[in-house]
Amino acid sequence: MSAVWVEEEAPAVSADKQMKIERETHKLEKRLCRQVGQAIMDFNMIEEGDRIMVCMSGGKDSYGMLDILLKMQQRAPIRFEIVAVNLDQKQPGFPAHILPEYLQALGVEYHIETQDTYTIVKRNIPEGKTMCSLCSRLRRGILYNVARRLQCNKLALGHHRDDMLQTFFLNMFFGGKLKGMPPKLASDNGEFVVIRPLANVAEKDLIRWAAHRQFPIIPCTLCGSQQNLQRVQIGNMLREWEKQYPGRTETMFTALQNVAPSHLMDPKLFDFKGVVATGVEDDEGDHAFDAEEFSAPSLSGLSGVPGLQVVAA
Ligand code: SF4
Repeated sequence: MSAVWVEEEAPAVSADKQMKIERETHKLEKRLCRQVGQAIMDFNMIEEGDRIMVCMSGGKDSYGMLDILLKMQQRAPIRFEIVAVNLDQKQPGFPAHILPEYLQALGVEYHIETQDTYTIVKRNIPEGKTMCSLCSRLRRGILYNVARRLQCNKLALGHHRDDMLQTFFLNMFFGGKLKGMPPKLASDNGEFVVIRPLANVAEKDLIRWAAHRQFPIIPCTLCGSQQNLQRVQIGNMLREWEKQYPGRTETMFTALQNVAPSHLMDPKLFDFKGVVATGVEDDEGDHAFDAEEFSAPSLSGLSGVPGLQVVAA
């Protein structure tokens, strides 16, 4: 008898849970589309007639990028084309059938380029040394060739907000530069425009989206190369900060879009030598003698706290 009661109650709970999951997923989808759409608009990433090569690694980020771009293509007020491209570098154990099967089923135009860079890298880099710089240089050259052959004018990469922040701190801590990862740039050979449509998207949202869409993810450790230790450290630091001070990642990301060259120390960006007294009072001006005020970090999130807008641009 009691077993009957237990069995009858279970579906009610699960239906409730199911509804909640669907609501959350719908919100997530809307957020992803809004953030990608915002980046496209803010940086003029996609224009009428573009033919965009979407670089697919088989990781969650590139699947998510293609997925959202295809949705945006449906509703965009302009016409642009998408070609998904994967480079099979012949890493041992690379499941070469997964991406073609997925892309075929999706009905998107795609191309798989097969080039054995793995052997070249292994042959040229001594055992134990990091292979990434040669590997990525080779990959870049091949992808430019593919883009040219496919007559694409833009390349889309799946870096997200957290990648951009990590790069910013890596450059500051280890490179002595205030430099992040641009959302849009001209390729180093000057031939293409490279865009990062996921620039505003949080990694945790891409993880959730990948789980919801059940992307057939290909592991990224097939080359046997060790992860960049410095990037791992920075990633851990950012996650730890976010745990201790929820909202800090968002605030730091906002700061990347809110730069005041007059309050840094690069004379190439601001003409410090040319600063003279203006003779005009400015309420919005800088109070050089006052201590700056910040709102105390709050556990409920820092974004939108007025005190964090420290300087006028
Ligand atoms: S992790 Fe492996 S595949 Fe990626 S750049 Fe480094 S060597 Fe190449």
